[in-house]
Amino acid sequence: MTENYEITKKTVHKLLPRRSPYIHKGDCGRALILAGASGMAGAAVLAVRASMRSGAGLTYICTPKANYQVLQTAAPEAICVDWDRVADKLAGRGNDPWNYDVIAFGPGMGVSASARRMLKAILLSYDGPLVIDADGLNLLAREPELTGFAQNYSGELILTPHVGEAKRLLEDVNLDQTTSREEMAEALVRKFRGIAILKGAGTLVARYSSALKTGAVTAWRNTSGNPGMATGGAGDVLTGVIAALTAQGLSPWDAARAGVLIHGAAGDLAADDKGEYGLIASDIVEELPYAIDEII
Ligand code: AMP
Ligand code: MG
Repeated sequence: MTENYEITKKTVHKLLPRRSPYIHKGDCGRALILAGASGMAGAAVLAVRASMRSGAGLTYICTPKANYQVLQTAAPEAICVDWDRVADKLAGRGNDPWNYDVIAFGPGMGVSASARRMLKAILLSYDGPLVIDADGLNLLAREPELTGFAQNYSGELILTPHVGEAKRLLEDVNLDQTTSREEMAEALVRKFRGIAILKGAGTLVARYSSALKTGAVTAWRNTSGNPGMATGGAGDVLTGVIAALTAQGLSPWDAARAGVLIHGAAGDLAADDKGEYGLIASDIVEELPYAIDEII
């Protein structure tokens, strides 16, 4: 790792565009989130609500029909997309063009055969920014074929593992007790050639240094967040935030760095209000608008 920087509110202030008074929802981007196996609708709700609270113009959710009622109740502003229709689209059937600015795959998704097929189809036929989280990462770790497709993905890949997921993704790389988080983030970038977000206290956002083309990896360390965020669903919220920022036109690299800062800042506001013990992931979602408002 040759270059290290910090992500601060000032960094993100420069990255977030101010909205034109004449903007309409079509200008604010379409995010498609694939999340929530049957019985895991909550992960989908968190990612979808985080996307909407971070400003995506339209948020689409592809999830099993069993989850629709929960989704349409907890997130009535989102649009449920039929699983088969997305699968058909990916297989080249159907006439409607892809009109998503970003796809996020994984929260609460499970590792079923159909989830695997869907991820494979996305990796092979989509070419826009693709966020892979949670079970999407578990699928990559279990299936060398999918790893290969991810390594050759034609769009920009954003992987968002916590340390446990990162270790599974790097099973073929020599890691031991002395491997630092920086080394782990660097190994993810070298293996998958995309953007790696290694989550936890001081989340790292890493990629190959673009300007230098020397094979060096750049890592930016997040300065927001707190231990109250060590709670189920917090990562699903981050996925929604990054999807929304990408949909709104930030480059995946800027969306990744701005997303982790905003997510942590929302977590800090939630901890100010509730303390660290009782903070839950939905509280982070509710603080996103205030965190963004403070930064912009
Ligand atoms: P996940 O493990 O996928 O639910 O993601 C947890 C989210 O909460 C990530 O964005 C982490 O960076 C964040 N998080 C968890 N624990 C901490 C901590 N101790 N300090 C700061 N952020 C944390
Ligand atoms: Mg997670």
